[in-house]
Amino acid sequence: MNTSWIFEQLDKISSIGGTIHGQNRLAFSENDMKAREFLKHLIDKIGLEYREDTFGNIFALYNNGSHNQIVATGSHIDTVPDGGRYDGTLGVISSLAAIKTIKEKKEKISHPLELIVFQAEESSRFGHSTMGSKIIAGKLENFVQWEQSKDNEGISLVQAMKDAGYNFYYINKSVVEKDRYKYFLELHIDQSKTLTNANVPVAVVDGIAAPLRVRVTIFGEAAHSGSTAMRDRKDALVIASELILAIRNISLAYDERQAIATVGKIDIYPNAMNVVPGTAVMYVDIRGIHAKTIEELFGLIRSESSKIALRYKASSEIELLSSEKPCALNNIVTDTIELSCKELKIPYIHTISGAGHDTMNMAEITECGMIFVRNVSGISHHANETILDEDIEKGALVLHDALLKLSR
Ligand SMILES: [Zn+2]
Repeated sequence: MNTSWIFEQLDKISSIGGTIHGQNRLAFSENDMKAREFLKHLIDKIGLEYREDTFGNIFALYNNGSHNQIVATGSHIDTVPDGGRYDGTLGVISSLAAIKTIKEKKEKISHPLELIVFQAEESSRFGHSTMGSKIIAGKLENFVQWEQSKDNEGISLVQAMKDAGYNFYYINKSVVEKDRYKYFLELHIDQSKTLTNANVPVAVVDGIAAPLRVRVTIFGEAAHSGSTAMRDRKDALVIASELILAIRNISLAYDERQAIATVGKIDIYPNAMNVVPGTAVMYVDIRGIHAKTIEELFGLIRSESSKIALRYKASSEIELLSSEKPCALNNIVTDTIELSCKELKIPYIHTISGAGHDTMNMAEITECGMIFVRNVSGISHHANETILDEDIEKGALVLHDALLKLSR
Protein backbone atom coordinates (compact mmCIF):
# COMPACT_ATOMS: atom_id res chain seq x y z
CA MET A 1 0.00 0.00 0.00
CA ASN A 2 1.48 3.30 -1.10
CA THR A 3 0.48 5.62 1.74
CA SER A 4 2.38 8.61 0.40
CA TRP A 5 0.00 8.43 -2.58
CA ILE A 6 -2.91 8.79 -0.12
CA PHE A 7 -1.32 11.82 1.59
CA GLU A 8 -0.63 13.40 -1.78
CA GLN A 9 -4.22 13.00 -2.99
CA LEU A 10 -5.61 14.22 0.35
CA ASP A 11 -3.47 17.35 -0.02
CA LYS A 12 -4.64 17.91 -3.58
CA ILE A 13 -8.33 17.47 -2.86
CA SER A 14 -8.06 19.60 0.29
CA SER A 15 -6.64 22.43 -1.78
CA ILE A 16 -9.98 22.58 -3.63
CA GLY A 17 -12.18 24.72 -1.42
CA GLY A 18 -9.73 24.59 1.44
CA THR A 19 -9.00 27.77 3.41
CA ILE A 20 -7.42 28.40 6.81
CA HIS A 21 -10.95 28.13 8.23
CA GLY A 22 -11.58 24.70 6.78
CA GLN A 23 -12.89 22.83 3.77
CA ASN A 24 -15.68 24.32 1.71
CA ARG A 25 -17.11 21.92 -0.80
CA LEU A 26 -20.85 22.24 -0.31
CA ALA A 27 -22.79 19.77 -2.47
CA PHE A 28 -23.09 20.90 -6.12
CA SER A 29 -21.03 24.03 -5.47
CA GLU A 30 -18.24 25.05 -7.82
CA ASN A 31 -15.63 23.61 -5.46
CA ASP A 32 -17.53 20.35 -5.14
CA MET A 33 -17.69 20.02 -8.91
CA LYS A 34 -13.97 20.83 -9.24
CA ALA A 35 -13.11 18.17 -6.67
CA ARG A 36 -15.28 15.67 -8.58
CA GLU A 37 -13.44 16.51 -11.79
CA PHE A 38 -10.15 15.97 -9.98
CA LEU A 39 -11.36 12.56 -8.78
CA LYS A 40 -12.55 11.52 -12.23
CA HIS A 41 -9.11 12.31 -13.63
CA LEU A 42 -7.50 10.35 -10.84
CA ILE A 43 -9.78 7.36 -11.49
CA ASP A 44 -8.97 7.61 -15.17
CA LYS A 45 -5.24 7.67 -14.49
CA ILE A 46 -5.53 4.50 -12.41
CA GLY A 47 -7.26 2.90 -15.36
CA LEU A 48 -10.71 2.22 -13.89
CA GLU A 49 -13.97 2.54 -15.78
CA TYR A 50 -16.21 5.12 -14.23
CA ARG A 51 -19.71 6.40 -14.63
CA GLU A 52 -21.75 9.10 -12.99
CA ASP A 53 -25.46 8.73 -12.25
CA THR A 54 -28.16 11.37 -12.67
CA PHE A 55 -27.48 12.78 -9.19
CA GLY A 56 -23.71 12.98 -9.53
CA ASN A 57 -22.79 9.87 -7.56
CA ILE A 58 -19.57 8.54 -9.10
CA PHE A 59 -18.92 4.82 -9.56
CA ALA A 60 -15.46 3.54 -10.50
CA LEU A 61 -15.31 -0.14 -11.34
CA TYR A 62 -12.38 -2.50 -11.32
CA ASN A 63 -13.51 -5.66 -13.01
CA ASN A 64 -11.19 -8.56 -13.47
CA GLY A 65 -13.63 -10.28 -15.77
CA SER A 66 -15.91 -11.87 -13.20
CA HIS A 67 -19.69 -11.69 -13.38
CA ASN A 68 -20.13 -12.00 -9.64
CA GLN A 69 -21.82 -9.42 -7.45
CA ILE A 70 -19.77 -6.30 -6.78
CA VAL A 71 -17.97 -5.52 -3.55
CA ALA A 72 -18.21 -1.75 -3.14
CA THR A 73 -16.43 0.77 -0.96
CA GLY A 74 -16.52 4.54 -0.68
CA SER A 75 -17.74 7.67 1.07
CA HIS A 76 -18.32 11.33 0.19
CA ILE A 77 -16.25 14.42 -0.63
CA ASP A 78 -18.81 17.19 -0.06
CA THR A 79 -18.27 19.04 3.22
CA VAL A 80 -20.09 21.23 5.70
CA PRO A 81 -19.07 24.92 5.62
CA ASP A 82 -15.52 25.13 7.08
CA GLY A 83 -15.39 21.38 7.46
CA GLY A 84 -12.45 19.11 8.18
CA ARG A 85 -10.00 17.51 5.79
CA TYR A 86 -10.97 13.92 6.51
CA ASP A 87 -14.74 13.63 6.93
CA GLY A 88 -15.73 11.56 3.90
CA THR A 89 -12.66 12.38 1.86
CA LEU A 90 -10.42 9.98 3.78
CA GLY A 91 -12.82 7.13 2.97
CA VAL A 92 -12.91 8.00 -0.72
CA ILE A 93 -9.13 8.28 -1.10
CA SER A 94 -8.41 5.18 1.05
CA SER A 95 -10.93 3.19 -1.00
CA LEU A 96 -9.36 4.31 -4.23
CA ALA A 97 -5.88 3.52 -2.88
CA ALA A 98 -7.01 0.01 -1.92
CA ILE A 99 -8.50 -0.69 -5.36
CA LYS A 100 -5.42 0.82 -7.04
CA THR A 101 -3.13 -1.47 -5.02
CA ILE A 102 -5.23 -4.56 -5.78
CA LYS A 103 -5.20 -3.69 -9.47
CA GLU A 104 -1.50 -2.90 -9.69
CA LYS A 105 -0.39 -5.92 -7.71
CA LYS A 106 -2.95 -8.09 -9.51
CA GLU A 107 -4.13 -9.38 -6.15
CA LYS A 108 -6.59 -12.23 -6.40
CA ILE A 109 -10.28 -11.33 -6.28
CA SER A 110 -13.34 -13.10 -7.63
CA HIS A 111 -15.76 -10.20 -7.28
CA PRO A 112 -15.43 -6.88 -9.10
CA LEU A 113 -14.58 -3.93 -6.86
CA GLU A 114 -16.26 -0.57 -7.08
CA LEU A 115 -15.55 2.81 -5.54
CA ILE A 116 -18.66 4.88 -4.87
CA VAL A 117 -18.32 8.62 -4.29
CA PHE A 118 -21.68 9.64 -2.89
CA GLN A 119 -23.09 13.06 -3.67
CA ALA A 120 -24.58 15.40 -1.04
CA GLU A 121 -23.92 13.42 2.12
CA GLU A 122 -23.91 16.52 4.30
CA SER A 123 -27.24 18.16 5.02
CA SER A 124 -25.74 21.62 5.47
CA ARG A 125 -26.68 23.00 2.06
CA PHE A 126 -30.19 21.70 1.41
CA GLY A 127 -31.26 20.33 4.77
CA HIS A 128 -31.32 16.69 3.68
CA SER A 129 -28.53 14.28 4.52
CA THR A 130 -27.05 11.32 2.65
CA MET A 131 -29.01 12.23 -0.46
CA GLY A 132 -26.87 10.38 -2.98
CA SER A 133 -27.02 7.08 -1.13
CA LYS A 134 -30.74 7.48 -0.48
CA ILE A 135 -31.27 7.69 -4.23
CA ILE A 136 -29.04 4.68 -4.93
CA ALA A 137 -30.88 2.61 -2.31
CA GLY A 138 -34.31 3.68 -3.54
CA LYS A 139 -35.07 5.44 -0.26
CA LEU A 140 -36.04 8.81 -1.68
CA GLU A 141 -39.39 9.29 0.03
CA ASN A 142 -39.73 13.07 0.18
CA PHE A 143 -39.30 14.07 -3.43
CA VAL A 144 -41.43 17.20 -3.06
CA GLN A 145 -39.46 18.41 -0.03
CA TRP A 146 -36.26 17.87 -1.94
CA GLU A 147 -37.66 19.66 -4.93
CA GLN A 148 -38.57 22.65 -2.76
CA SER A 149 -35.39 22.76 -0.70
CA LYS A 150 -33.21 25.83 -0.98
CA ASP A 151 -29.82 26.79 0.40
CA ASN A 152 -29.09 29.89 2.52
CA GLU A 153 -28.77 32.03 -0.57
CA GLY A 154 -32.17 30.98 -1.88
CA ILE A 155 -30.75 28.68 -4.58
CA SER A 156 -32.92 25.60 -4.94
CA LEU A 157 -31.53 22.10 -5.20
CA VAL A 158 -33.17 21.92 -8.63
CA GLN A 159 -31.27 25.03 -9.74
CA ALA A 160 -27.97 24.06 -8.11
CA MET A 161 -28.13 20.71 -9.87
CA LYS A 162 -28.93 22.41 -13.15
CA ASP A 163 -25.99 24.79 -12.75
CA ALA A 164 -23.74 21.80 -12.13
CA GLY A 165 -25.07 20.03 -15.21
CA TYR A 166 -27.66 17.63 -13.73
CA ASN A 167 -31.42 17.33 -14.02
CA PHE A 168 -33.24 16.94 -10.72
CA TYR A 169 -36.21 15.31 -12.44
CA TYR A 170 -34.07 12.36 -13.52
CA ILE A 171 -32.79 11.41 -10.08
CA ASN A 172 -35.19 8.50 -9.69
CA LYS A 173 -33.40 6.81 -12.58
CA SER A 174 -30.41 6.23 -10.39
CA VAL A 175 -31.82 3.58 -8.08
CA VAL A 176 -29.53 0.55 -8.34
CA GLU A 177 -30.72 -3.03 -8.75
CA LYS A 178 -31.17 -4.72 -5.38
CA ASP A 179 -28.72 -7.55 -6.03
CA ARG A 180 -25.96 -5.47 -7.59
CA TYR A 181 -23.75 -5.43 -4.50
CA LYS A 182 -22.48 -8.25 -2.34
CA TYR A 183 -20.93 -6.01 0.30
CA PHE A 184 -20.34 -2.35 0.96
CA LEU A 185 -17.55 -1.05 3.17
CA GLU A 186 -17.03 2.54 4.33
CA LEU A 187 -13.96 3.90 6.08
CA HIS A 188 -14.62 7.13 7.98
CA ILE A 189 -12.98 9.43 10.52
CA ASP A 190 -14.21 8.89 14.07
CA GLN A 191 -16.40 11.89 14.86
CA SER A 192 -16.04 11.52 18.62
CA LYS A 193 -13.29 11.04 21.21
CA THR A 194 -14.00 7.32 21.50
CA LEU A 195 -10.93 6.00 19.68
CA THR A 196 -8.61 8.59 21.20
CA ASN A 197 -9.87 7.71 24.68
CA ALA A 198 -9.45 4.01 23.97
CA ASN A 199 -5.97 4.71 22.55
CA VAL A 200 -6.49 2.66 19.38
CA PRO A 201 -5.99 3.73 15.75
CA VAL A 202 -9.04 2.00 14.30
CA ALA A 203 -12.44 0.62 15.25
CA VAL A 204 -14.87 -1.91 13.88
CA VAL A 205 -18.28 -0.24 13.76
CA ASP A 206 -21.10 -2.53 14.91
CA GLY A 207 -23.97 -0.26 14.05
CA ILE A 208 -25.23 3.22 13.35
CA ALA A 209 -27.50 4.58 16.02
CA ALA A 210 -30.78 6.28 15.25
CA PRO A 211 -32.88 8.40 17.58
CA LEU A 212 -36.40 7.74 18.82
CA ARG A 213 -37.84 10.88 20.33
CA VAL A 214 -40.67 11.14 22.81
CA ARG A 215 -42.44 13.85 24.72
CA VAL A 216 -43.49 13.10 28.28
CA THR A 217 -46.03 15.41 29.90
CA ILE A 218 -46.54 15.28 33.65
CA PHE A 219 -49.90 16.61 34.78
CA GLY A 220 -49.53 17.71 38.40
CA GLU A 221 -51.31 20.56 40.08
CA ALA A 222 -50.22 24.19 40.18
CA ALA A 223 -50.59 25.63 43.69
CA HIS A 224 -49.52 28.45 45.98
CA SER A 225 -45.93 27.89 47.08
CA GLY A 226 -46.63 29.37 50.49
CA SER A 227 -49.95 27.92 51.51
CA THR A 228 -49.74 24.39 50.07
CA ALA A 229 -48.35 21.81 52.49
CA MET A 230 -45.56 19.65 51.10
CA ARG A 231 -47.54 16.42 51.47
CA ASP A 232 -50.50 17.88 49.57
CA ARG A 233 -48.53 18.82 46.48
CA LYS A 234 -48.56 17.29 43.03
CA ASP A 235 -45.41 19.07 41.94
CA ALA A 236 -44.89 18.25 38.27
CA LEU A 237 -41.23 19.26 38.36
CA VAL A 238 -40.49 17.01 41.32
CA ILE A 239 -42.16 14.13 39.49
CA ALA A 240 -40.19 14.97 36.34
CA SER A 241 -36.97 15.04 38.37
CA GLU A 242 -37.59 11.53 39.66
CA LEU A 243 -38.33 10.40 36.16
CA ILE A 244 -35.12 11.95 34.79
CA LEU A 245 -33.11 10.01 37.38
CA ALA A 246 -35.07 6.85 36.61
CA ILE A 247 -34.34 7.25 32.89
CA ARG A 248 -30.66 7.61 33.67
CA ASN A 249 -30.67 4.49 35.85
CA ILE A 250 -32.62 2.43 33.33
CA SER A 251 -30.21 3.48 30.55
CA LEU A 252 -27.17 2.73 32.69
CA ALA A 253 -28.33 -0.88 32.90
CA TYR A 254 -27.82 -1.16 29.14
CA ASP A 255 -24.52 -1.54 27.41
CA GLU A 256 -23.69 1.91 26.07
CA ARG A 257 -23.38 0.49 22.58
CA GLN A 258 -26.91 -0.85 22.72
CA ALA A 259 -28.96 2.08 23.99
CA ILE A 260 -28.69 5.44 25.67
CA ALA A 261 -31.31 7.99 26.67
CA THR A 262 -31.16 11.72 27.31
CA VAL A 263 -33.60 14.25 28.68
CA GLY A 264 -32.29 17.32 26.93
CA LYS A 265 -35.18 19.71 27.22
CA ILE A 266 -37.85 20.41 29.78
CA ASP A 267 -40.55 23.08 30.02
CA ILE A 268 -42.51 23.76 33.17
CA TYR A 269 -45.74 25.64 33.66
CA PRO A 270 -46.53 28.15 34.89
CA ASN A 271 -42.77 28.57 35.50
CA ALA A 272 -43.10 31.11 38.30
CA MET A 273 -41.07 31.31 41.47
CA ASN A 274 -44.03 31.32 43.85
CA VAL A 275 -46.09 28.61 42.17
CA VAL A 276 -45.74 24.85 42.60
CA PRO A 277 -45.17 23.61 39.02
CA GLY A 278 -48.41 22.23 37.59
CA THR A 279 -47.20 20.76 34.33
CA ALA A 280 -43.83 19.55 33.13
CA VAL A 281 -43.09 18.67 29.52
CA MET A 282 -39.89 16.79 28.93
CA TYR A 283 -38.26 15.60 25.74
CA VAL A 284 -36.44 12.29 25.71
CA ASP A 285 -34.00 11.22 23.01
CA ILE A 286 -33.38 7.47 22.96
CA ARG A 287 -30.65 6.06 20.73
CA GLY A 288 -29.32 2.64 19.95
CA ILE A 289 -28.34 0.37 17.10
CA HIS A 290 -31.12 -2.21 17.51
CA ALA A 291 -34.75 -1.21 17.00
CA LYS A 292 -35.80 -3.84 19.53
CA THR A 293 -33.60 -2.43 22.32
CA ILE A 294 -34.77 1.11 21.62
CA GLU A 295 -38.39 -0.07 21.80
CA GLU A 296 -37.68 -1.90 25.04
CA LEU A 297 -36.10 1.18 26.61
CA PHE A 298 -39.03 3.27 25.40
CA GLY A 299 -41.43 0.78 27.05
CA LEU A 300 -39.53 0.96 30.35
CA ILE A 301 -39.57 4.77 30.31
CA ARG A 302 -43.30 4.68 29.60
CA SER A 303 -44.11 2.40 32.53
CA GLU A 304 -41.75 4.24 34.85
CA SER A 305 -43.36 7.61 34.06
CA SER A 306 -46.87 6.40 34.89
CA LYS A 307 -45.62 4.61 38.03
CA ILE A 308 -43.85 7.69 39.37
CA ALA A 309 -46.75 10.02 38.49
CA LEU A 310 -49.18 7.67 40.21
CA ARG A 311 -47.13 7.75 43.40
CA TYR A 312 -47.81 11.50 43.52
CA LYS A 313 -51.48 10.99 42.56
CA ALA A 314 -50.72 12.78 39.32
CA SER A 315 -50.82 11.52 35.74
CA SER A 316 -48.56 11.41 32.74
CA GLU A 317 -48.78 11.13 29.01
CA ILE A 318 -46.13 9.92 26.60
CA GLU A 319 -46.12 10.70 22.88
CA LEU A 320 -43.86 9.40 20.16
CA LEU A 321 -42.42 12.34 18.19
CA SER A 322 -40.20 10.58 15.72
CA SER A 323 -38.56 7.25 15.20
CA GLU A 324 -35.71 6.58 12.81
CA LYS A 325 -34.46 3.19 11.85
CA PRO A 326 -31.14 2.23 13.42
CA CYS A 327 -28.72 0.19 11.41
CA ALA A 328 -26.95 -2.89 12.76
CA LEU A 329 -24.04 -3.76 10.51
CA ASN A 330 -23.52 -7.18 9.02
CA ASN A 331 -21.67 -9.78 11.11
CA ILE A 332 -19.77 -11.27 8.19
CA VAL A 333 -18.42 -7.85 7.28
CA THR A 334 -17.62 -6.76 10.86
CA ASP A 335 -15.95 -10.13 11.57
CA THR A 336 -13.86 -9.69 8.42
CA ILE A 337 -12.71 -6.21 9.47
CA GLU A 338 -11.86 -7.60 12.91
CA LEU A 339 -9.86 -10.45 11.38
CA SER A 340 -7.95 -7.98 9.20
CA CYS A 341 -7.06 -5.91 12.29
CA LYS A 342 -5.87 -9.04 14.09
CA GLU A 343 -3.81 -10.33 11.20
CA LEU A 344 -2.24 -6.92 10.63
CA LYS A 345 -1.63 -6.63 14.40
CA ILE A 346 -3.43 -3.30 14.50
CA PRO A 347 -5.12 -2.57 17.85
CA TYR A 348 -8.86 -1.95 17.53
CA ILE A 349 -12.07 -1.68 19.49
CA HIS A 350 -15.71 -2.22 18.62
CA THR A 351 -17.79 0.91 18.57
CA ILE A 352 -21.01 2.35 17.21
CA SER A 353 -21.59 5.49 15.22
CA GLY A 354 -23.71 8.19 16.76
CA ALA A 355 -23.70 10.09 13.47
CA GLY A 356 -25.43 9.02 10.29
CA HIS A 357 -23.53 7.83 7.21
CA ASP A 358 -24.20 6.74 3.63
CA THR A 359 -23.70 3.19 4.91
CA MET A 360 -27.13 3.40 6.60
CA ASN A 361 -28.79 3.61 3.21
CA MET A 362 -26.51 1.09 1.54
CA ALA A 363 -27.50 -1.32 4.33
CA GLU A 364 -30.97 -1.40 2.77
CA ILE A 365 -29.62 -3.02 -0.38
CA THR A 366 -26.54 -4.93 0.71
CA GLU A 367 -24.46 -6.20 3.64
CA CYS A 368 -22.39 -3.38 5.11
CA GLY A 369 -19.50 -2.64 7.40
CA MET A 370 -17.64 0.45 8.59
CA ILE A 371 -14.13 1.17 9.79
CA PHE A 372 -13.41 4.23 11.95
CA VAL A 373 -10.02 5.90 12.11
CA ARG A 374 -8.88 7.77 15.22
CA ASN A 375 -9.47 11.51 15.25
CA VAL A 376 -6.88 13.00 17.59
CA SER A 377 -8.83 16.23 18.12
CA GLY A 378 -12.07 14.35 18.81
CA ILE A 379 -14.04 16.95 16.90
CA SER A 380 -15.46 16.80 13.41
CA HIS A 381 -17.28 19.15 11.03
CA HIS A 382 -14.47 21.50 11.95
CA ALA A 383 -11.08 22.50 10.53
CA ASN A 384 -9.40 20.95 13.59
CA GLU A 385 -10.15 17.39 12.51
CA THR A 386 -6.80 15.64 12.89
CA ILE A 387 -5.57 12.19 11.98
CA LEU A 388 -1.98 11.02 12.47
CA ASP A 389 -0.25 9.83 9.30
CA GLU A 390 0.40 6.44 10.82
CA ASP A 391 -3.31 6.05 11.63
CA ILE A 392 -4.24 6.91 8.05
CA GLU A 393 -1.88 4.16 6.98
CA LYS A 394 -3.35 1.65 9.45
CA GLY A 395 -6.92 2.45 8.40
CA ALA A 396 -6.03 2.06 4.73
CA LEU A 397 -4.30 -1.26 5.39
CA VAL A 398 -7.34 -2.62 7.22
CA LEU A 399 -9.66 -1.45 4.45
CA HIS A 400 -7.45 -2.98 1.75
CA ASP A 401 -7.19 -6.29 3.57
CA ALA A 402 -10.90 -6.48 4.40
CA LEU A 403 -11.80 -5.67 0.78
CA LEU A 404 -9.53 -8.45 -0.44
CA LYS A 405 -11.05 -10.93 1.98
CA LEU A 406 -14.61 -9.95 1.10
CA SER A 407 -14.01 -10.12 -2.63
CA ARG A 408 -12.24 -13.47 -2.72
ZN1 LIG B 1 -18.94 12.02 6.65
